[in-house]
Amino acid sequence: MEADGDIVKAPFLHRLAQLGRRAGTVLLDQLYPPLCLNCEAALAEADALCGACFAQLRPISSPRCPVLGLPFEVDLGPDALSAEAIADPPPFRRARSAVLYNEVARKRVSRLKEGERPGRARFCARLRAGAGQELGGGGRVRVPVPLHRPRQFPRRYNQSTELARALAQLTGLRVDPTLVARSRRTRQQVGLSADARHRNVAGAFSVRPDAAARLAGRPVVLVDDVITTGSTVNAVTRALNRAGIADVDVMSFARVTVQGDLS
Ligand SMILES: [Zn+2]
Repeated sequence: MEADGDIVKAPFLHRLAQLGRRAGTVLLDQLYPPLCLNCEAALAEADALCGACFAQLRPISSPRCPVLGLPFEVDLGPDALSAEAIADPPPFRRARSAVLYNEVARKRVSRLKEGERPGRARFCARLRAGAGQELGGGGRVRVPVPLHRPRQFPRRYNQSTELARALAQLTGLRVDPTLVARSRRTRQQVGLSADARHRNVAGAFSVRPDAAARLAGRPVVLVDDVITTGSTVNAVTRALNRAGIADVDVMSFARVTVQGDLS
């Protein structure tokens, strides 16, 4: 808050800093003209993919499992569930993802994780806003899946929070980045078996004690960058359920599926 005090005391300096920042942005755009986020071909528009890279993304649309959001090869009707949803019903209501996790999607997710310019989350958010249309409305609050602090701080920001914020800017929906926290350190899920993933994140998340009052009955949409086996979003949903928040949907930019691996 010290900075705020300085701003009140020195409006001229604040204005100068503002102008400096604006000039810096203009300069950045001149130094770094818009490039394809994937292959770095020159583009007319920032935060986008070129036509060739965009065509490699595999959007997930109907027909899909109404619960897990997994794409179906053939349309089995609106109530047909995937074998995965029947064998192991998730604690959340519905999950939706924008694209299959293939090479272009993987590069996008890993660039976000490495901490590229935060504004770049807009591209993923735009795609997800389309995929998650049925999860909108009803005063739903976007809650990012939290990173553990020691992992969040070196990167300076949480990519799920960035995605949730970019999504909120596009759609005007609310974001609550502090509702859920990671209460213990977990290993990276990459390279673990499904069973080990489950054990790794079970009980790893805590929900603010005032969460139910804070939400006042509003449902939650958990936001993550990529869903692999669903262990992480399952663990966060269970923590929300224990805190008395029953209505939880899940949304991600990418989704790991067998089809995604093959394409
Ligand atoms: Zn490209």
